[in-house]
Amino acid sequence: MTRILMFGLILAAGCAPAPAGAAEHGRLLLIGQPTLWLEPGPGEPNGPPMNWKAGTELTVFADCPPEAAHGETWFQVGQDAPAGWLPEACLSLPPVDFDESSLRAIGQARVDRTAGLPPNYAPDDLVSVGPRYEQDRDYKLRAEAAEALAAMLAAAKADGHTLYVVSGYRPWSVQQTLYERKVKAAGRDQKTVAKPGHSEHQLGTAVDLTDGNEETLLRVSFGESPAGRWLREHAWEFGFAQSYTEHNEAETGYQPEPWHFRYWGIDQARTKHLRALGVEE
Ligand SMILES: [Zn+2]
Repeated sequence: MTRILMFGLILAAGCAPAPAGAAEHGRLLLIGQPTLWLEPGPGEPNGPPMNWKAGTELTVFADCPPEAAHGETWFQVGQDAPAGWLPEACLSLPPVDFDESSLRAIGQARVDRTAGLPPNYAPDDLVSVGPRYEQDRDYKLRAEAAEALAAMLAAAKADGHTLYVVSGYRPWSVQQTLYERKVKAAGRDQKTVAKPGHSEHQLGTAVDLTDGNEETLLRVSFGESPAGRWLREHAWEFGFAQSYTEHNEAETGYQPEPWHFRYWGIDQARTKHLRALGVEE
């Protein structure tokens, strides 16, 4: 619900009275291809299959404002002219005021449900990190974050907690695959996997960690394990903060993820961390 509301608000913010014809109302990126179909009206089947590629920028037309149907918000979209309707779950907000320089300063860019990264954004200073949870995979982070991670994992080990990297940098295309898979399995109202462009993993500064126990792997119960508790207490000392907590669930629109840490740099991490946990300074 929050997600749809936020999405609607963003579009409504740019909603001026439409001139005659198909006025441009906003731009959205298409997720998913070729399993989605354009439809003649909100939620009405039998439209032609679409031939746009995932990541295509579509125009949202103002003279047909978003409509609610089947519990979802639908947008009329096209390239040069309105071509059909798509539900919100098939569309991603494009980068808003994307500033390349905000990414050069590590940890600065805003990435959440409403602010996204362009499909072609990839950091240029990625390095491999470990220890790896799956030996045949190569996990990467931006250099500064990788260095901080190595220091953090060494400190955790010294305190008796061996941690493994289970996810690092993730390109737009990989996030798209994960998102589509989740939507297929859990429905279009799922709220655990971010849309492509809206995952902190695309920044190359977010890492998922595990203590190697399969039972708590990427599960909320990891937060109550000794290693999970160690991270909650010490991650900020190395410049990392937990992004999604019980406290900020309504704000972020994501369920708590005690395994997911984003590098902000030491200056910012403590504030971000305390804010996420709801602790007032
Ligand atoms: Zn993550």
